[in-house]
Amino acid sequence: MAADSFDCEAAVVGGGPAGLTGAIYLARFKRSVTVLDAGFSRAAKIPRSHNMPGYPQGVVGAELIAAMRAQAHLYGARVEKACVQRLQRIGGGFAVHFDDGREPLRCRSVLLATGVSDNAPAMPQLAQALRDGALRYCPVCDGFEVIGCHVGVLTDRCAGVREALYLRHFSDRVTLYFTQRVDLTEEDRRRLAAADVALQPAPVRALHLRESAGVRVEHEDGADDCDALYGALGLRVHSQLATALGAAHDDDGYLLTDSHQRTSIEGLYAAGDVAQSLNQITVAAGGAAIAASAMHRALGLPG
Ligand SMILES: Cc1cc2nc3c(=O)[nH]c(=O)nc-3n(C[C@H](O)[C@H](O)[C@H](O)COP(=O)(O)OP(=O)(O)OC[C@H]3O[C@@H](n4cnc5c(N)ncnc54)[C@H](O)[C@@H]3O)c2cc1C
Repeated sequence: MAADSFDCEAAVVGGGPAGLTGAIYLARFKRSVTVLDAGFSRAAKIPRSHNMPGYPQGVVGAELIAAMRAQAHLYGARVEKACVQRLQRIGGGFAVHFDDGREPLRCRSVLLATGVSDNAPAMPQLAQALRDGALRYCPVCDGFEVIGCHVGVLTDRCAGVREALYLRHFSDRVTLYFTQRVDLTEEDRRRLAAADVALQPAPVRALHLRESAGVRVEHEDGADDCDALYGALGLRVHSQLATALGAAHDDDGYLLTDSHQRTSIEGLYAAGDVAQSLNQITVAAGGAAIAASAMHRALGLPG
């Protein structure tokens, strides 16, 4: 397909920290780039991040996204609200199809930055609980903020043990709760006991945001108050647009990329949470910078 029959050189699917970093780099490389974003970035849920380098007072997730978006606009990137339904390979590039039936966008390369979504616990006032820091998802991000607090970890699987043990580094008052009966191995029980992590095997019946602070956890044996409750109920990795084309992925659905963030599909790159299970803004931005640089090289001179 002739270069002039493409709508843009690069499409970025996802407008979180990865997608917007990719767009900033590509726009500054003088590439025509369109960001297509459905508008549910995990970063927008961060009440205030304290581990972003350069922000000693912390930064509100939605404000960071707004600033990155403004920076992408400044250099000429287009940012559109859109939900991408399917990627199709066409000669020399891709057609990007949308869920609202509008005309597909034709581009020479794609950066997939569609992230992941947390499986949320059933809880009234969920959004408020996240804003208050009573409900949390990411101990790597904010374990520091719960040092010495009574921390609950709510899970539905054995893997929750790992998260409880991880948090034990930050607090000596950690309790592991379950949404259902889970058969832990003897080894898991031994590790929890050795680390002095409390185990509440009676399934949780209800969660309530406490007026004072924290979460009340009601379970079949009574109720406890936690200063913070971590949801460890798994993630949904939004890699289907790539896997539908046959892109390689691991058992959890994370896309596999090489050191240039190239997926196994030519012209398709991936960065951010969809390709990196550490799930951090800095990692997302770093991966996108690498991807954008590789895309720029692969696109060559303007044709
Ligand atoms: C409560 C909370 C607190 C956190 N705190 C921190 C912290 O302090 N520090 C830190 O480093 N990290 C933190 N994180 C993690 C951080 O938010 C993520 O690592 C980061 O947002 C990943 O960026 P991303 O661009 O890969 O994905 P996202 O930010 O999730 O962006 C993905 C984007 O892709 C879009 N998208 C998905 N599918 C489609 C589609 N089909 N079509 C169009 N668009 C699509 C979504 O709408 C979304 O906007 C936190 C996460 C949560 C939930």
